[in-house]
Amino acid sequence: MQTASTKQELREQLSLYRGKRIVMVPTMGALHEGHASLLRQARELAGAEGCVVSSIFLNPVQFDNAGDLATYPQTPEADLAVCRACGVDVVFMPTPDIMYCADRSIHLEETHLSTVLCGAKRPGHFAGVCLVVNKLFNLVQPTDAVFGKKDYQQLAILRRMVRDLDIPVTLHGAEIVREADGLALSSRNVRLTPEHREAAPTIRRSLLAARQAYRAGASEESTCAGVQQALTHIPGVRVDYVELVDAETLHPLADATRPALLAVAAYFGDVRLIDNIELTRTV
Ligand code: AMP
Repeated sequence: MQTASTKQELREQLSLYRGKRIVMVPTMGALHEGHASLLRQARELAGAEGCVVSSIFLNPVQFDNAGDLATYPQTPEADLAVCRACGVDVVFMPTPDIMYCADRSIHLEETHLSTVLCGAKRPGHFAGVCLVVNKLFNLVQPTDAVFGKKDYQQLAILRRMVRDLDIPVTLHGAEIVREADGLALSSRNVRLTPEHREAAPTIRRSLLAARQAYRAGASEESTCAGVQQALTHIPGVRVDYVELVDAETLHPLADATRPALLAVAAYFGDVRLIDNIELTRTV
């Protein structure tokens, strides 16, 4: 496994693999089993001949909250061990000043899918994601990239970016990896208090109950209300949103028989957790 901290080093390391399958997994570090599952999926897609590239870059441009950026866990040594164990070939670990020119002046904004859910709550977040992923795609020129469905809206927006900008890469969505108690793995979970860590699986439990209710014919409103109520009961928890939307457009369901997404974001203290579940009516 090779590591690159500059764009030049990255180019040199990748030159060996041009013409082969290059599969990329962008991350912000503090890697856990969710990231590892993406890396293993990338290794499978790349095969023995191809190349798996992961980036570990805590992208300041996508943070709408300075406190969240300042407290985001960073574990570079352990991250490299995870990458090695998952068969990564090249790890790109730039610093912000290597990634960005101080006077950068290009803004890249998706204007439809980004206006709802987390996009409505975190101004500038998805523009920062689009910018960094676009830059990473330009640097690496991957044939494929793997993203987790935990960040379902991010994946939908990146698919739109790739489509609308004709970026020659195939995106793959990976299933959410969870703790045994149902909590979706997240780099931010380590920041939960013991009480909030214990209560956090309520998110998953309430989403599962909501799916059952929706299948059985519950209205969109009562489906969302069930999740909202389950979370509001927990001391120190503030629900950011609970919304049921069309799984493709992320906007309100025009047709109740279409695949839907129930998405939730909630603050456990100052730690913002997100999760989601895909739903369909059985009618
Ligand atoms: P992050 O480091 O949070 O930017 O995440 C990097 C990638 O890992 C993104 O594509 C995430 O969707 C994905 N990811 C994060 N947590 C999970 C999880 N629990 N299961 C599956 N994928 C995940």
